[in-house]
Amino acid sequence: MGQQTAARCDDCGYVEGRLFVGGSPTAGFRGERWPCLCLTCRRVVSALINWETLACSCGSTEIEPYGSVSPPPGSRPLHRLRGRVLEDAEYPCPQCGAVALRFADGANAFE
Ligand SMILES: [Zn+2]
Ligand SMILES: [Zn+2]
Repeated sequence: MGQQTAARCDDCGYVEGRLFVGGSPTAGFRGERWPCLCLTCRRVVSALINWETLACSCGSTEIEPYGSVSPPPGSRPLHRLRGRVLEDAEYPCPQCGAVALRFADGANAFE
């Protein structure tokens, strides 16, 4: 069962209100999703991950998964998938580039 999250930039106010982590709730859907930065869309996208061909729904492969595989001690993980951890920390914003993007535990947390 997948989880949902949301992202917000404290610097420019960019909000992505509905992102998926893990399996999609759509019936019959195969695959897992993870929040990624798409350099073409300049948005946070829930990319379908098979960890070999990482691509945005826009078709771009210029996409960076958020989070890390070895979180620092004392970090606060929000979501995990296959060893990758999304923390309660600041990440680069796809709109303004500032390291001020935070993820929430749950969808629509910033609306
Ligand atoms: Zn921003
Ligand atoms: Zn894209």
